[in-house]
Amino acid sequence: MDAFFKQAIDGLREAGNYRVFCDLERHSGAFPKATRYRNDGSTHDVTVWCSNDYLGMGQHPAVTAAMKTAIDRCGAGAGGTRNISGTNHYHVELERELADLHGKEAALIFTSGYVSNWAALGTLASKIPGVIVYSDELNHASMIEGIRHSRCEKRVFKHNSPEDLERLIAADDPARPKLIAFESVYSMDGDIAPIADFCDIADRYGAMTYLDEVHAVGLYGPRGGGIAEREGLMDRLTVIEGTLGKAFGVMGGYIAASATLCDFVRSFASGFIFTTALPPALAAGAIASIKHLKQSEFERRQQRRNVEKLRAMLDARGIPHLENPSHIVPVMVKNAAKCKWLSDLLLDSYGIYVQPINYPTVPVGTERLRITPSPLHTQADLDHLVGALNDLWSQCALSRAVA
Ligand SMILES: *Cc1c(COP(=O)(O)O)cnc(C)c1O
Repeated sequence: MDAFFKQAIDGLREAGNYRVFCDLERHSGAFPKATRYRNDGSTHDVTVWCSNDYLGMGQHPAVTAAMKTAIDRCGAGAGGTRNISGTNHYHVELERELADLHGKEAALIFTSGYVSNWAALGTLASKIPGVIVYSDELNHASMIEGIRHSRCEKRVFKHNSPEDLERLIAADDPARPKLIAFESVYSMDGDIAPIADFCDIADRYGAMTYLDEVHAVGLYGPRGGGIAEREGLMDRLTVIEGTLGKAFGVMGGYIAASATLCDFVRSFASGFIFTTALPPALAAGAIASIKHLKQSEFERRQQRRNVEKLRAMLDARGIPHLENPSHIVPVMVKNAAKCKWLSDLLLDSYGIYVQPINYPTVPVGTERLRITPSPLHTQADLDHLVGALNDLWSQCALSRAVA
């Protein structure tokens, strides 16, 4: 069998899709700095520019202190599934905190955002008799897998297109239950869904709505409730799904919805029931992070400032990046080999870490460096990044945008 495994892996290598991990040791208190371990065991300092710990909350003193306290009080692990001795009081508090964040009656936590989408969509779509799921064509793998696992009827609509969604939904039997599944901020292009338009369609056709706010929670809305909070739409969504692993800086996923819907998923989702509960310390850290971002605009404001600064600096040098209304800055290289080459040189020669994003994560010809400025990158970090990109852009003979 080893020959088979090797051949499959070689196939990935030849296609340029073989994934190489950057071996990092992050420095708590010095975000976004890290030590990188090379294969030969030597190390060097790097600045991370592609973290999904968007606000540096994974190192926030309130978060790490809460986690240490919880370990001292409750120990390392939860000690069981939620049903069999694993429900710790921190889990209960966290679910209350999340329900409050999204203005819903209840919330349910999972071991990751991936599992929350897979388990919640999989359960809803397999158990609601005759349901049809309408899924945005660029939905995350975790939603696609959940829908596929449910074996329900599914329609894929054009990305962020209310017209295409309505065309599909209008053609279906009005009596069938319907669920529209989509994201708010899409992580590769950084574009944002027309949530209100989708909710209008849901109202017209009696459909439920399921919104993945993974790349928006903590970052948008006056209390970090996401795009739906910012736009005053939370009460129009049937389910809001999020992660504790990105802007909240810890780990875990959740849904927020009506008490009955959460109770239903709690009672029927295999991926919720048959797995050990999150360590209490993770729940404690998440509570501290959510509470902090509910009342602090500081991190969000600083992040937006750095995003604007970076865009302006790139524009001044004609380095092309995808315009979008979010915190994600995709620098477009549009060539897989050059994208990898740029990323390697940034890392080895400049101590700048930005993972190259190639096919199949994005379409061929749209290869990019996905940059995520945080509130904690300094002006010196920005100058160093843009200076390095400017040097390499010339060396690599990449085309510049006309300002
Ligand atoms: C990262 C991601 C998830 C999964 O969240 P994790 O907590 O990392 O498992 C779900 N949806 C989207 C859109 C994501 O980008």
